[in-house]
Amino acid sequence: DHRLLRIASAIRVIPDFPKPGIMFQDITTLLLDPKAFRDTIDMFVERYRDKEITVVAGIEARGFIFGPPIALAIGAKFVPMRKPKKLPGEVISEEYSLEYGTDRMEMHVGAVQPGDRVLVIDDLIATGGTLSAAIRLLERVGAEVVECACVIELPELKGRERLGERPLFVLVKAA
Ligand code: 5GP
Repeated sequence: DHRLLRIASAIRVIPDFPKPGIMFQDITTLLLDPKAFRDTIDMFVERYRDKEITVVAGIEARGFIFGPPIALAIGAKFVPMRKPKKLPGEVISEEYSLEYGTDRMEMHVGAVQPGDRVLVIDDLIATGGTLSAAIRLLERVGAEVVECACVIELPELKGRERLGERPLFVLVKAA
């Protein structure tokens, strides 16, 4: 697809952020290119518009940029998956491991119902720890995770393998 080249070119790589040795994939430059941003959203919408998705679950923070326009275009609800202590209502939460220590993801009770068909959106998959925590939360409330989708995959980190059987769709693979 000719759109992928433009999307890949619009992502900036910043070496040594947030710490030495990390090549940070910066999607803020993609947002500065309205054609590439539009193409990104369109490619997800084309893939998911006929899949009877009822919920788009976006992961804080960059899943909040890509998730809502997709949800609106396919007529699905948008549900934010947030960092601890951000959501005001009753929450359920899942811990997941980071390189050092653990983090927690929270979701409002009642936002996702048993039988919901969910698309999980984030900007990037690295080790897959974040997406697998989101999957656990969604499956605990009886939802079906139809697919996870990211703009960028870092294939060397093998995050895809941590998602088990659930499919992962990505637009760009980065080294
Ligand atoms: P994982 O849990 O798969 O190891 O890490 C993925 C999470 O970390 C995502 O929420 C993603 O936003 C963030 N992340 C890790 N590395 C990068 C990066 O290079 N660029 C961006 N934009 N996000 C990253």
